[in-house]
Amino acid sequence: MAAFGSVFMPQMAMATFENGKWSAASLVPADSMQMHPGAHVLHYSSTCFEGLKAFRHEDGSVHVFRIDQNIKRLAQSSQFLSLPAIDEAQVTKMITDIVANFASEVPAPPGSMYIRPTHIGTEAAIGKAAVPSASSMLYVLLSPVGDYFTGGAKALRLLLDETGMRCAPHMGMIKSGGNYASALGPIVKANKEVQADQILFCPNGDVQETGAANFLLIDGNEIITKGLDSSFLHGITRSSILTLAKDLGMKVTERDMTVAELIKLAAKPEVEAVLSGTAAVLTSVGTFIHNDSEYTVGSGKPGPIADKLRLALNNIQWGKAEDTHNWLTKVC
Ligand SMILES: *Cc1c(COP(=O)(O)O)cnc(C)c1O
Repeated sequence: MAAFGSVFMPQMAMATFENGKWSAASLVPADSMQMHPGAHVLHYSSTCFEGLKAFRHEDGSVHVFRIDQNIKRLAQSSQFLSLPAIDEAQVTKMITDIVANFASEVPAPPGSMYIRPTHIGTEAAIGKAAVPSASSMLYVLLSPVGDYFTGGAKALRLLLDETGMRCAPHMGMIKSGGNYASALGPIVKANKEVQADQILFCPNGDVQETGAANFLLIDGNEIITKGLDSSFLHGITRSSILTLAKDLGMKVTERDMTVAELIKLAAKPEVEAVLSGTAAVLTSVGTFIHNDSEYTVGSGKPGPIADKLRLALNNIQWGKAEDTHNWLTKVC
C-alpha cells in the first residue's frame, strides 16, 4: 500500500485571484502547475491548507465530513497570512464538485478520499518580503487513502519538550506550511536521539500539541485537553471527539495542564493518552519521554475508551450511526 497521501487523482480544482477578484474554478491536471520561481509563496511562505475527508456509504452515496468547519479555518488561515480572502461558497463548491467528479474512486471504509485544499500567494515579487501577495491560487487535490492502522495500531512514543516550540506563538492556529518546516528539525532530532515518534510541544511546561495533531488525556470518565487559545491548531477532530464524549456521558474538561501533572496522571493504570487529527482520528500514546526518563502511559497500549470514541466518530463518517450533529454533506 502506498504511503498516506502519495497517490493523487489525475485532476484538481483550481481558481486564481488576480486584479482583486477570483476567477471561475476549473478542473486542471493535478501533476503539474505553472508558477513563477519568484512567487511569493516560494520565498515568504504565504501558504495555508486544509485536510478533510469524503466517505463512501453502503448505499454508494458519498459524504464529506464537516466541510463547513474546514472552509471556516481556511478562510481564517488566509486572513491571518494576509492572503486574499477566499470565497467560501466557491471553495465549498470546488470541493463538493471535484469529489462528485471522482466519486467512483472514493475507497470504501476504512478507506476514504482525503481532500487537500491549498491556498498560496503567487505574485512574482521577491521585493515583497514585508508586503502581502496581490495574487493567489487556490487548488483542491484529492488523494485516496486506506486504513491508517494497516498492520495494527501501535502506541506512540512522545517526547515531552518544554524548551522548544512548534511554531511562533502567533502562528499556532494557522494551518500554514512554515509551521511544519519549523517543527521538523526538533522532530527529526527526537526520532534519532530517543526514538520518539512525535514531539508533544509543551513550552514552559504548558502541554500544547504535536507537530500535526492535538493531544487529549482520558482519565476514566473524564477527557482533558487544552482550552482553545491562539497557541495551537483548533482541530476539527478534537472538537468532534469532545462532542461525542459528551454524548456518551463523559465529562469534558478544557484546561491547561503542566508536564508535571501529565506525568503524574500517566501513572494511573486506566489513563489513556491520544493524538487527534483527520488522518487517523485518534492515535494512542504508550510512552512519554522526558529528561532522559521514560514513563508508560496507563497500560502502555491502545486503550478501550480511545477505541470507543474513534468508532463512534467512524460510525457517523461511515453512515453506520445517525448523523445527529449534521456533520456530513452528501455530494452524490
Ligand atoms: C491539522 C492539524 C491538527 C488536526 O486538525 P483536524 O482538523 O482534527 O484534522 C492538529 N494540529 C495541527 C498542528 C494540525 O496541522
